[in-house]
Amino acid sequence: MNKQQTLKTYFGFESFRPGQEPIVDRILAGRDVLAVMPTGAGKSLCYQLPALLLPGITLVVSPLIALMIDQVKALNEAGIHAAYINSSLTEGQIGRALELARAGRYKIVYVAPERLETPRFLDFACHAAISMVTVDEAHCISQWGQDFRPSYLRIRDFLRRLPERPVVSAFTATATSRVREDIRASLELENPLETVTGFDRPNLYWEVRRGSKKKEQIRDYLAARREDSGIIYCATRKNVDELYLYLDSAGFSVGRYHAGMESPARKESQEDFIYDRKRVMIATNAFGMGIDKSNVRFVLHFNMPQSLENYYQEAGRAGRDGEPASCILFYSPQDVVIDRILLDSKVNEGEYTEEEWRVIREQDTARLRRMEGYCTTTGCLRGYILRYFGEEAPERCENCGNCREEWETLDARDAAAEVIRCVGTSGQRFGRNRIIGILMGENTEAVRQYHLEENLSYGTQKQLGRERLGDVIRALLEQGYLRQTEDRYALLRLTGRSGELLESEEPFRISFRKEEKPAAARKKGSAAALSAEGQGLFEKLRKVRMELARKRGIPPYMVASDKTLRDMCLRRPKSEAELLEVNGMGETKVARYGKAFLEAIRESAD
Ligand code: ADP
Ligand code: MG
Repeated sequence: MNKQQTLKTYFGFESFRPGQEPIVDRILAGRDVLAVMPTGAGKSLCYQLPALLLPGITLVVSPLIALMIDQVKALNEAGIHAAYINSSLTEGQIGRALELARAGRYKIVYVAPERLETPRFLDFACHAAISMVTVDEAHCISQWGQDFRPSYLRIRDFLRRLPERPVVSAFTATATSRVREDIRASLELENPLETVTGFDRPNLYWEVRRGSKKKEQIRDYLAARREDSGIIYCATRKNVDELYLYLDSAGFSVGRYHAGMESPARKESQEDFIYDRKRVMIATNAFGMGIDKSNVRFVLHFNMPQSLENYYQEAGRAGRDGEPASCILFYSPQDVVIDRILLDSKVNEGEYTEEEWRVIREQDTARLRRMEGYCTTTGCLRGYILRYFGEEAPERCENCGNCREEWETLDARDAAAEVIRCVGTSGQRFGRNRIIGILMGENTEAVRQYHLEENLSYGTQKQLGRERLGDVIRALLEQGYLRQTEDRYALLRLTGRSGELLESEEPFRISFRKEEKPAAARKKGSAAALSAEGQGLFEKLRKVRMELARKRGIPPYMVASDKTLRDMCLRRPKSEAELLEVNGMGETKVARYGKAFLEAIRESAD
């Protein structure tokens, strides 16, 4: 079988996604690979597909038991023999699995890094034909990454002990050049193909919503999409519990997850979500790693995360199946204050030198500020994210809240010049709020203390209002006429360009939202392209999927993704051969589930 046939037969896909094919080719040519692809881009396929075509076994090192179990189940569902070796098995079970593996029963074996150096596993590995060792979530190797796992450092010794060096491939969603360097060095990759796949996820819609009544906004959002599965992230356990009680008592199908819950309760809650028994998960960032559920239609953020790295990873759990999905952040300036306090309360427990600690703190503060910038920008949100991750992006994407929003613009040249004069004459020692206070002519304690009422700009911009003045300062920062200090005080400072603005006669335009639109008027993301009739069939197929999943004891998305169901609605296959044409339906799935789906489609045609 060639790779194209394998793609279709086992995985049910017509074509590769961007970035996948060169990786597969390179591995099949016997070369090492280091691939950086965003969450949901389809990393697993990049090693699973070649694993089927390579002569021997592929070992996949993976950091989490839940992740392994999920992947092995999904492979078995696709008719691929795979197994995992980790501490969830008894020694007896491990012995049997290794025996079967040695006998050639499994093409893919997932293994926890801690296992690699046990004598038993080493013995197995030295006597079996290992074609490839794949390191998933490879950033865990680096102390500079966010989830450093010391046991990942042992992979190198394991590789050295093998009688023959297999192909080594490493995959991760986030890797700065420093982390990449660590991965390359630690795994001793040999002239690897290094690829960074674009971070853009065109099927994701980005939006920032403002306003104080967040809970009510979220309730309305859920009410408008009763069938969709989604995640709501909160900053704290307390937020999770409160929102959970609120939505649960409002009659929504919700579950919750945070580190304060007992482990069995957490596990149950997670499974309820994965198996579609609970539609919406409310969670802290403790939830998510290892959740490969493909039909998450929205990810809402009740609070602003501390960095865009975190945000992109969490929000990126939406729409893994490539279907439209929404990522909406509910922003209130209060979140920034809370995040600052959280950052300030972090203490150096002796693991860093004073200098290192200072650098870490500065980085954290800078990240937080860029995150805040995302929440307040009036430019394209997708562009903001892509540029943050070092990619180029067009001015507008037309698929984010800001590109779709109607903006009001205003020439605020005089106000802008006044802001700059005020920053200068007050000695560049104040942050944004105090500068606004001066321009508004406020009579506060601080104003009196520093005699700011004597400043020439005092009270000159009253007519504009606090909010517009905030917009002016933001625009000045974005265009480089002002800057903020990197410390947590974020003092406003003049730049080399500040003078230009004072001399220029050009208009200085700021833009701001016309008004808040009611939530219901917004476009519904999922299944939008289906007709009413198609929608009916979709719901029906969803029930069939649920039933099939229940019988087999697997999550519904492993039976078929939302994308697959939608494709069925559009194509309405009448035979197994036609069903094979449907995106995501491989031979095993057609054999296993074909009848049930075809029957449902036939019934709906009557
Ligand atoms: P990652 O590990 O990069 O976050 P996954 O490997 O979990 O992503 O894949 C995400 C989703 O993309 C899965 O539902 C998978 O079935 C789907 N997928 C992967 N490759 C393709 C492809 N070539 N065509 C369609 N869907 C794909
Ligand atoms: Mg993955």
